[in-house]
Amino acid sequence: MAVFDHPEFDQHESLHFVQDPDSGLQAIIAIHSTALGPAAGGCRRWQYASDADALTDALRLSRGMTYKNAIAGLRFGGGKSVILASEAAPKSPALFRAFGRAVEGVGGRYVTAEDVGCSVADMNYVREETRFVSGLPQSGDSAGGDPSPMTALGTFLGIEAAVKARLGKDSLDGISVAVQGVGHVGLNLCHLLHEAGARLVVADVNREHLQRARDELPVTEVAPPQLLYSEVDVLAPCALGNILTSVTIPKLRARIVAGAANNQLATEADGARLVEHGILYAPDYVINAGGIINVAHEYYGNSSEDKVRAEVTRIPERLEAIFKRAEETGQPTNVIADEWARRIVASGGSDSTIAA
Ligand code: NAD
Repeated sequence: MAVFDHPEFDQHESLHFVQDPDSGLQAIIAIHSTALGPAAGGCRRWQYASDADALTDALRLSRGMTYKNAIAGLRFGGGKSVILASEAAPKSPALFRAFGRAVEGVGGRYVTAEDVGCSVADMNYVREETRFVSGLPQSGDSAGGDPSPMTALGTFLGIEAAVKARLGKDSLDGISVAVQGVGHVGLNLCHLLHEAGARLVVADVNREHLQRARDELPVTEVAPPQLLYSEVDVLAPCALGNILTSVTIPKLRARIVAGAANNQLATEADGARLVEHGILYAPDYVINAGGIINVAHEYYGNSSEDKVRAEVTRIPERLEAIFKRAEETGQPTNVIADEWARRIVASGGSDSTIAA
């Protein structure tokens, strides 16, 4: 398994491979950049087909966090961790405590929180071993807790901005949205979309999650493999990444892709492919930054839910700037966002303009 030559390595500052035989923990902590502050990004627990897949996921997610934190204006660098799920290593307090010791061992260069497969309760066990963790239970109206409602809010506002930019509509009333995955973020997003008058098409591979969506909202359900190709205005991916590929893009019927899932594009070239097919893409790490904004405010303390909400409402203006520049230059939105983020990082955060 190549590491330094890995196609996704992209000058990572450090990679930490962690093992704890007692709890069965096997994890990777990837630190892409600490140029703007400690590398912050959640912990994903997932059953990977191979160690190589876990490494690729950690590297891609970690670099994405550098870009996400930069554009969100946070004093954080980018990092991410993955815990390799297996029958030999079931979820347990001991597993998350061992992970917490690993985070502590990195000495504050990495700050963790929950991502797919982890919860607020799991982060409490991590907290027993390290203070470099966020996404802990909220107290009162202070910032903190499960970040997914803020991720959903930012994604909702981003969908509004994309609909305005591509369809020229100021409201989501009557707009159809296909939501892939109705987990933490997806279900919250569905509620916001429904309240705004949107029509919902949903799919999930988890029957309980699907049933909850059906119980709470009027949704049209489709089989998971068909969801991407729904005849809708907006496709909102809220499950896992690598779904926009040379195979799937030509078959999409939505005019907008705007959702919370990380790493939606399989490759950078898929951004250009979306343009060729007349589809407006809201770069994933820009639209889904609500969660990390929540995590950051909690971590630095002295903040409230209202302040987080105010920051999250700035996501659409960043997307509008990207859409405008895409119009002007013909460049794909993902390329514009990547260049913008690299510019912020290279200037140590002092230059946050989108282009020279
Ligand atoms: P989650 O695990 O709660 O929900 C994901 C849902 O997707 C689950 O219900 C799962 O069954 C479903 N799913 C998986 N594969 C599917 C498929 N092929 N088709 C349909 N459904 C499928 O995770 P989440 O916290 O809601 O995060 C969703 C996505 O958003 C992830 O990519 C995550 O990295 C990203 N994200 C989450 C946050 C956050 O605050 N939670 C922040 C930023 C980005």
